[in-house]
Amino acid sequence: MTEHQPFWPVDCEEGGPELLVCMSCLSEVFKRKVPMPDCPACHGVSTYEAFTLEAIRDWGTEPLIEKALKAHAEVEPPVRATQAPGLELSAE
Ligand SMILES: [Zn+2]
Repeated sequence: MTEHQPFWPVDCEEGGPELLVCMSCLSEVFKRKVPMPDCPACHGVSTYEAFTLEAIRDWGTEPLIEKALKAHAEVEPPVRATQAPGLELSAE
């Protein structure tokens, strides 16, 4: 039981995709950060990819969209630190 989930901050382009979804279990989504050391749901490492809320609404399951909406509404001060290793952002 972990009460505090540590995160890697993720740099996202302004206006670009900033919701990080676990592509392995498709059940976790975080805004501009990824849980460390691995996905709390499936324990996948480097399984997170960045998407926009619109994209998640397109293909996401209802619980995922709900989580994405919550994450999207979250307001956090931008943190500049090391980016998660091996994380590839689809910011094209
Ligand atoms: Zn996962």
